[in-house]
Amino acid sequence: MADRDNSEFDLIARHFTRPAANAVLGVGDDCALVDVSNGMDLAVSTDTMVSGTHFFPDVDPEHLGHKALAVNLSDIAAMGAMPYWATLALTLPNVNHDWLAAFAKGFFDLAQEYNVSLIGGDTTRGPLTLTVTIMGEVPAGAALRRGGAKPGNDIWVSGNIGDAALAVAHRHGRVVLAAEDYREAVMRLYEPSPRVTLGQALRGLATAAIDVSDGLLADLTHICRLSGVGATIELPLVPVSSIGAKHLATPEGRTAIVAGGDDYELCFTAHPNSRDSIEDLTDMLGIPLSRVGQIKRGKGVSLLGADAKPVKVDGRGYDHFKAP
Ligand code: ADP
Ligand code: MG
Repeated sequence: MADRDNSEFDLIARHFTRPAANAVLGVGDDCALVDVSNGMDLAVSTDTMVSGTHFFPDVDPEHLGHKALAVNLSDIAAMGAMPYWATLALTLPNVNHDWLAAFAKGFFDLAQEYNVSLIGGDTTRGPLTLTVTIMGEVPAGAALRRGGAKPGNDIWVSGNIGDAALAVAHRHGRVVLAAEDYREAVMRLYEPSPRVTLGQALRGLATAAIDVSDGLLADLTHICRLSGVGATIELPLVPVSSIGAKHLATPEGRTAIVAGGDDYELCFTAHPNSRDSIEDLTDMLGIPLSRVGQIKRGKGVSLLGADAKPVKVDGRGYDHFKAP
């Protein structure tokens, strides 16, 4: 292929320049321009995905495009914000147009679903790394923060958790999934569904929220630390799929479910007076919401089994810089 066709500029024009419906100015200039509404706070979040750390190097590029945006939409969801704009910083080992076309398809299909415009980015050569910055709006003062949980609040989790981490554990040989269970679980890993509508519906109901990216225990620990509280989770109440249910009894399965991460469900806290309103959301949005425990005075997150005795779990969640 001629050099011209592999240039950075051709690559951007071919794969990443689309009309930016939500923006004043999109891809092509030195900056993008967006018009931020009166009375709204701008919500901004960045997530990087590194080959070999956040995804298997042989991942289908369409899944990767979906996931790069989905994990960022999940942060917007966890704040109760409306997503509008994204930028994409792409580091690629080489230019492969088939790969890029599939990646762009995964990315833009999801972007379209949420009316998100890709308004800029950067393209460089190096080990495959994807950084998406997402921006959105939330009514001033109404964002769901991590610091608002109070003793006596219920702890809720959306959907079910564990399948993505079980698929990873299967690939690493720590658990063994039946072939069809693996095929289903791995789709949760590749194509997570960010809970954007749920996040917005929780404004005024949730006292704190976070998305489950590093594992339920680790992410709830972040809420506890910022809220100055402790928490108790009851393992039998943790929502799992039929696949997860088969692995709850083994230590490795249990670890994947409560500490594994990559679920992109929401974990949030709310006053017990809000139970009916939250249960109504399950029907309105078609998203299961489960009450899994309670916020307590004190510090730290404890996990209790069916006998109300503490359950031990190896590891609490993913930390890039923790010693192995
Ligand atoms: P600059 O010289 O200002 O760094 P670039 O040449 O890197 O600009 O990018 C040109 C335009 O293309 C800019 O508007 C930039 O935001 C956009 N852009 C670059 N890479 C990407 C990408 N991967 N996805 C979307 N937009 C991109
Ligand atoms: Mg640049």
